[in-house]
Amino acid sequence: MSKPMGTIPAGFAADADGMLLVGGRRADALVAQADTPMFVYDLALIDRRIRDFRAAFQDVDLHYAIKANSYQPVLRHVAKQVDGLDVASGGELRLALGAGGDPNVISFAGPGKRDVELEQAIASGITLNCESEGEAERAFAIGDRLGRTPRLAVRVNPDFEIKGSGMRMGGGAKPFGVDAARVPALIRRIRSAGADWRGFHIFAGSQALDPAALIEAQRATVALAAEVSQAAGAAPPLVNLGGGFGIPYFNGERPLDIGAVGAALTETLNGRHAILADSRFAIELGRWLVGEAGVYLTRIVDRKESHGRTFLITDGGMHHQLAASGNFGQVIRRNYPVAIASRFGAEPDEETSIVGCLCTPLDRLADDVMTPRAGPGDLVAIFLAGAYGLSASPQAFLAQHPASEMVVGG
Ligand SMILES: *Cc1c(COP(=O)(O)O)cnc(C)c1O
Repeated sequence: MSKPMGTIPAGFAADADGMLLVGGRRADALVAQADTPMFVYDLALIDRRIRDFRAAFQDVDLHYAIKANSYQPVLRHVAKQVDGLDVASGGELRLALGAGGDPNVISFAGPGKRDVELEQAIASGITLNCESEGEAERAFAIGDRLGRTPRLAVRVNPDFEIKGSGMRMGGGAKPFGVDAARVPALIRRIRSAGADWRGFHIFAGSQALDPAALIEAQRATVALAAEVSQAAGAAPPLVNLGGGFGIPYFNGERPLDIGAVGAALTETLNGRHAILADSRFAIELGRWLVGEAGVYLTRIVDRKESHGRTFLITDGGMHHQLAASGNFGQVIRRNYPVAIASRFGAEPDEETSIVGCLCTPLDRLADDVMTPRAGPGDLVAIFLAGAYGLSASPQAFLAQHPASEMVVGG
């Protein structure tokens, strides 16, 4: 019995020869330019996402969480169009600045920032999202030493979480952020130390497809920001509401209805507490902006049979697309949408398993899926490769051929 796969996202078609087109370019022509395995990102699909966001959310800033995809051409393209970049390491900060990111709208979250990273952040004038009281103290000391005023937002560890389907309430111990109850004291300390308090960062989860879960989390987040601000006696310039917008990876999942989320947020913000009257609000997104715009193209090297099953063995694998192999936090392995790029749209006529070239049973790209007949030389496309592909995979594992990256549609 074959297993289902996720739905191929909108924006991909075949030409008259049945060759997959990415951004209007033939997959075989793209890999001829740079070899397989390769990631191709269609900038026009990213632009469409940004437009969709702007249409659904009035007067809410859009930030890009660059860890989803920090390939310079993608980052430069996105940086020009969004209102802020969120980084999570000194390395990402350099990438963001290198891509033309404005320091005034870059913020840096992440537990375990080293002193050199705090220095780099304070010297470049970006905002640090403080993850603890201790980190704030280190930032004051570094600011004094550099003769610069640190710009500090407080990352709040909320007592709620967005879940894929419904929100799980209940306070939790986490290494991220400062427990909400201690935040007012930290804000007072930041202000009395003479630092520039920028507001809040409140991130309650990722990969939500249920608008009701997101709506509820955003309501709770705005309420929490108001409560903590009142307790601190200060109004936050910016409230970063987190993100968590998911994309459908697997069979049966449906795209998030952002129109519903936007309408509800407008209502929530219209009714917000007076202490937030002059605050700006931001949503930070990674995968929702870039995930569907990327395709991972890999070439079939071998086709073989074993105990009645057919394996298509490719020159790519989990060292570039860890998430598609099912080894990036998934509990149960399910199939991402995949296709034989060189026979895109052809009727599937056999059951195959598509695997990578790594010498480990973990390296599976698609299990028992229906595909059109394919063999050595044919190209395989793994969709939803625009986020957490190369940036989140163990490329050095087994010293395999590195993946190339390319943008189209810019
Ligand atoms: C990873 C991360 C994001 C981006 O998550 P996506 O699911 O890709 O949208 C946003 N904010 C913070 C704080 C993160 O750690």
